[in-house]
Amino acid sequence: MSDQVPVQEQPFKAEIKQLLNILIHSLYTEREIFLRELISNASDALSRMRFIMLTDQNVLDPEAELTIRLMADSDKRLLVIEDTGVGMTSQELAENLGTIAHSGARAFLEAAQKGESTPNLADIIGQFGVGFYSVFMVAEKVVVTSRSYRPEAQAARWESQGGETYTLETAEKTSRGTRIEIFLKEDAAEFAQEARLRDIIRRYSDFVVYPIYLGEDETPVNSRKALWREAPNEVTEEQYADFYKQFTLDFEPPLLHLHVHADAPVQLYALLYIPAKAERNMFSLRKENGLKLYARKVLIQEYTKDLLPEYLRFMQGVVDSEDLPLNVSRETIQANTVVRQIRKVLSGKVLGALREMATKDPEKYARFWETFGTYLKEGVVSQTDAREREKLYPLLRFRSTTFPDQWIALTDYIGRMKGGQKTIYYLLGEDADSVQHSPHLDAFRAQGIEVLLLTEPIDSFLAVTLTEYEGFKVENAASADLPRASQEDTAPDEGSVPEEVQTTLQRFRETLGERVADVKFSRRLHDSVARLSDPEGVTNSEMQRVYRYLDKEYQVPKKVLELNPHHALIRRLAGLPEDDALVKAVIEQVYESALLLEGLHPNPASMVQRIQQLMEAALPPAAEDAA
Ligand code: ADP
Ligand code: MG
Repeated sequence: MSDQVPVQEQPFKAEIKQLLNILIHSLYTEREIFLRELISNASDALSRMRFIMLTDQNVLDPEAELTIRLMADSDKRLLVIEDTGVGMTSQELAENLGTIAHSGARAFLEAAQKGESTPNLADIIGQFGVGFYSVFMVAEKVVVTSRSYRPEAQAARWESQGGETYTLETAEKTSRGTRIEIFLKEDAAEFAQEARLRDIIRRYSDFVVYPIYLGEDETPVNSRKALWREAPNEVTEEQYADFYKQFTLDFEPPLLHLHVHADAPVQLYALLYIPAKAERNMFSLRKENGLKLYARKVLIQEYTKDLLPEYLRFMQGVVDSEDLPLNVSRETIQANTVVRQIRKVLSGKVLGALREMATKDPEKYARFWETFGTYLKEGVVSQTDAREREKLYPLLRFRSTTFPDQWIALTDYIGRMKGGQKTIYYLLGEDADSVQHSPHLDAFRAQGIEVLLLTEPIDSFLAVTLTEYEGFKVENAASADLPRASQEDTAPDEGSVPEEVQTTLQRFRETLGERVADVKFSRRLHDSVARLSDPEGVTNSEMQRVYRYLDKEYQVPKKVLELNPHHALIRRLAGLPEDDALVKAVIEQVYESALLLEGLHPNPASMVQRIQQLMEAALPPAAEDAA
């Protein structure tokens, strides 16, 4: 052919040079992971091949067995890994092995650059998916010869010593796939020994579905067990944990595994896991959310998001169904009826498993809730189907005034209700600490009534959705009528408040002016000086919070400042002459403190100067000033 490419020397992209530099110079003990990376690439290439052949037989070597083959020559310190996957053209070699286009390596590099300390770096390499380049931890020179499955494509050869450059040229290779020759460094000779290789393959790549052959041996090294198709009572805990590890590269064992076999309404095998952490380790093998979907053992999609509702996206695992047509394309998955049925079965199973965990092992469930509670709240908020939503209610957990350090269920709360209480009360706040100091709690504390404390951003949305549970109303303590309705709900009559305190109310009104809707006395306050409430008829405060999250520019409606006429501060204020400089400062500070507790203060730092002024006034004069 005329378009023969001569040997071309190409520089690596700058970031690859950095990456190579880090890898080559890291004295890393677990260098063996390079093999897992290369096998995983080969396995990907084979899966892509299998997928292409579902619809297109016009490929090179359509009959070739889908395999991975390793050959080691310890005399030459040479290791060869060969697959019959999709292969790469010369252009693909340049694109895939000459630039960092994929997330794992880029994330690795960013972490490595940030990494102040070197030991940290070793950890990072240990955790991750640096991909192809990890081969340079053990290689002096690497030669990749590849031939694409496209019948008209030419074979190409990529070679590099891991320095500044690589070369690319046309090559002779008649069969489809990729061959990687690794010329090992002197201190990496162990990787040309079959026993060592067998060991590594079993450790990291046992579940790879394609046979991995080593040397002349015609029995695959890996067991290739599709663990999810095994009978659950024949799988050991250790196997479940191992599978998870290989699947995700997560170091921590999963919180829970769920092995599902179903025949109706849809045939499926699934092996699902709840990870121990919400964030995917940044070097996880799983690069996106979604489950791995097989149809009759053929990998259809690596990350399938339609198999579970969005809010359960933290789940990891594999789903395999005999009922899915093999030609289900990536585009039609979402619309597929079988997929919809699978989704229904799986989400039912997951919720069932969570309910079981909550009753049988509350401590573990508390750990689950700490990590993934927000997702379940998101489920409540996002479900449009009321019945689906209500299934989540028993799984919700809250902090409360009675148990600020525990996670309690709504039923626990109901069980502790005082006689006659008909309402579940909650209070929204900015954080766990400050919400407990809220003046809205005064009246509830005084009556010994428990209040749920909601402090996450999503809680405002939750509060808007969750308005009733098991026949009990769910209400905001800041605006609810008091439980034991009494005269406390009404403003104290004028007569009960001394005259000079009445005057103080006027002073507040004058000083705060247009900033508040009104200032009045309240009986709901006991230890607190003041609280902010909404005037009749404005949007409730849960909704106001929702608006604030959705629209930073949203202006909260003016509040009513309620004062505690019996509080020492108000009474002493009443005793000061009107022109005392402190009066105005105290009034301003009372108002701004109330704003702060409500999470509405636009600029808390602006209070510092006034607080200083108040402190100076409170302290006795210094000796020399007095003199
Ligand atoms: P990742 O696997 O995360 O994409 P790698 O660095 O491991 O990153 O591989 C880079 C790319 O090189 C792969 O995405 C793939 O396109 C290509 N590649 C690597 N190994 C092979 C192979 N054996 N056969 C075909 N393509 C491969
Ligand atoms: Mg890879």
